[in-house]
Amino acid sequence: MLANRSGEDLRASDLAHHLHPFTDHVVLAAEGGPRVIKDGDGIYLWDTEGRRLLDGMAGLWCVNVGYGRKELGEVAHQQMNRLAFCNTFFKTSHQPVIELAERLAALTPEGIDNFFFANSGSEANDTAIRLVRSYWAAVERPQRHVVISREYAYHGSTLAGASLCGLPGMHGVAGLPIAGVAHSAAPYAWAAGKALDDSAYGREAADALEAKILEIGPENVAAFIGEPVMGAGGVITPPPGYWARVQEICRKYDILLVCDEVICGFGRTGEWFGAQSFGIAPDIMCMAKGLSSGYLPISAVGIGTRVAETLRTRPGVYSHGFTNSGHPVAAAVALKNIELIEAEGLVDHVRDVAGPALARRLEALAVHPLVGQVRGIGAMWALELTSDKATRAPFAPPGSVATRVRNLCFERGLATRAVREGLVFAPPLIITEAQVNEMADILTSCLDTAVAEL
Ligand code: PLP
Repeated sequence: MLANRSGEDLRASDLAHHLHPFTDHVVLAAEGGPRVIKDGDGIYLWDTEGRRLLDGMAGLWCVNVGYGRKELGEVAHQQMNRLAFCNTFFKTSHQPVIELAERLAALTPEGIDNFFFANSGSEANDTAIRLVRSYWAAVERPQRHVVISREYAYHGSTLAGASLCGLPGMHGVAGLPIAGVAHSAAPYAWAAGKALDDSAYGREAADALEAKILEIGPENVAAFIGEPVMGAGGVITPPPGYWARVQEICRKYDILLVCDEVICGFGRTGEWFGAQSFGIAPDIMCMAKGLSSGYLPISAVGIGTRVAETLRTRPGVYSHGFTNSGHPVAAAVALKNIELIEAEGLVDHVRDVAGPALARRLEALAVHPLVGQVRGIGAMWALELTSDKATRAPFAPPGSVATRVRNLCFERGLATRAVREGLVFAPPLIITEAQVNEMADILTSCLDTAVAEL
């Protein structure tokens, strides 16, 4: 066990030596360093000062089965003692990765029967780009190399993952986005579809994909990639008909469809995968986060028959992979995590209990003076704040009120995240109805304080 050091001591050391992802280090230093978290149990976290936080974000949309699950620790311990590492290169395999691939083949939509393993969502998406380009090269149409993503998308932080992102800031260094990546409109009806009803805007956003394909030339397009519900971009739920139209367009131009299930997968939408919630039949699906509930880093790329068969029957080495592809300990933990999700009926729980409870409490906030829109599905939700419900105008300065509410939530024991003018929620899937009420009560009190301050 690590020595029991004080929060103050740890914060000082963190400021001296630790560079954080997605952090303004000037602000972090001005605020005296990070909140240091010590313990987690169920849907709660405790910091070094003993303050309890209800984790409204399941870590980073990943701790689906909640914290403190001894079963996962025990499996990791046993697998480490038995076989701590085994590569999957060079004609080698092991039981945990074989069983995980077998399990995923049974869980994922029909036709997705082959799995490639990596360590993160970003690596899974990098792998998907490589796979679709390899596929088109194998069928002797190598000019089909462009991958179309969307504005507001988040697909990761490696050079390729960041290139796929459609969020300002992700392309802020030289050389990004990489060549062969393009972006089309997001189905973000709140921001872009003010003049239309949601379905009409969904149609318009899908049709923008067709326009983008024609601009690039269909003969140059390899794939379209999309999250079933855009997560980090602000829980942007697709309007009715959007995904049906996108799939029609992909079929029309013979473009492969990649579903980024990194957030949506493993129960978050109230189905095992977001693809099932929206009737999507992907050629490739990328998974991470909920695959192991964040207990160990692991990701998977599910590959449909068309791409898998072409690659399986092509002679020559497939030159791609990571030292930890299919790591035995991570694979064993992922298997156990899937077993827990199944044994505890967590997908049904999201669909029938937690999702409806979240919908009831959060949708009731639509009448709050600060709230313009409430949207979500299952256990992923967003509140869009506005200074004027009629015009959907942002606050000045942009994002300031969402940030203030987010800070108040933390002070009052609720971890959430501000995205532009919005607040997003994605609690562990085990959240009970009483805990949804606890979360919504804190949020409501923070919105009330913020409106009083204005
Ligand atoms: N794809 C989506 C939809 C994500 O939300 C994320 C991370 O939040 C990623 C990919 C990248 O995953 P990772 O941070 O594990 O690289």
